[in-house]
Amino acid sequence: MLSWIYPHYCELCHRASEEDLCEDCLSRLPRVPLPICLYCGAPVAGEQEDSFRCIECSGRARSFDLARSACALSKSTLFLIHQLKYHRCNYLAPALSRLIDEIWSETPPLAGVHDTEDWGVVPVPMGAKHLFSRGFNQAEELAFGFAKRRGIRLYFPLLRLPSGEESQTRLSAGERWKNALQSYALKQAYALGRRSLPSHIVLIDDVYTTGATVRACARCLKKAPGVRYVAVLTILRAGVRALESMDSDI
Ligand SMILES: [Zn+2]
Ligand SMILES: [Zn+2]
Repeated sequence: MLSWIYPHYCELCHRASEEDLCEDCLSRLPRVPLPICLYCGAPVAGEQEDSFRCIECSGRARSFDLARSACALSKSTLFLIHQLKYHRCNYLAPALSRLIDEIWSETPPLAGVHDTEDWGVVPVPMGAKHLFSRGFNQAEELAFGFAKRRGIRLYFPLLRLPSGEESQTRLSAGERWKNALQSYALKQAYALGRRSLPSHIVLIDDVYTTGATVRACARCLKKAPGVRYVAVLTILRAGVRALESMDSDI
């Protein structure tokens, strides 16, 4: 009835659709091409071995246990993330969270522990300043859509500290990491064990660029008593340059 009064239109092709992205457009979004680094999920050239790690990940201490992104950079994926992030199109989040669900069910290491472990969903938090101007946290909206779809409980154990609220988009990889480390913290109730988290966490964000944000968040989560495994899932995998073009027309 509601969809008859307020019909949905696909954000990309503008045809009437049951959701805000039609099946056709959703399936046509370019996925991250194989092969990928088994740790961070970055597409890599050449053959892939079982234990393959990209140059970025080799020799790096683990903070998260695995990261995967659903989509590669394209005009459409960039447009959708842009709409979600900067144009208050939070109505797109339920449809986009289907992409998170897709990687969750298609990633072998995750598929192996789906049913046997205790899972919780955690969004990358947003600072008060951004939350006030944007009105919502896009990572939270995506996490909510995914958690609802899968029947997994949603938790909010992380804080974004005011000191790290400036946009990371124009920082170098090294600066991003330094900034990210100072930007996130575990809420005291979780750090002290007054509130508990499941042993396995799915950390959700919209875009994976250098991975600094999710690595810093995963590091905080691993300080919570009982947390053993953190998997990072994002909609888009994009280089820093692509995101500079996103920021340029805010
Ligand atoms: Zn469409
Ligand atoms: Zn890697």
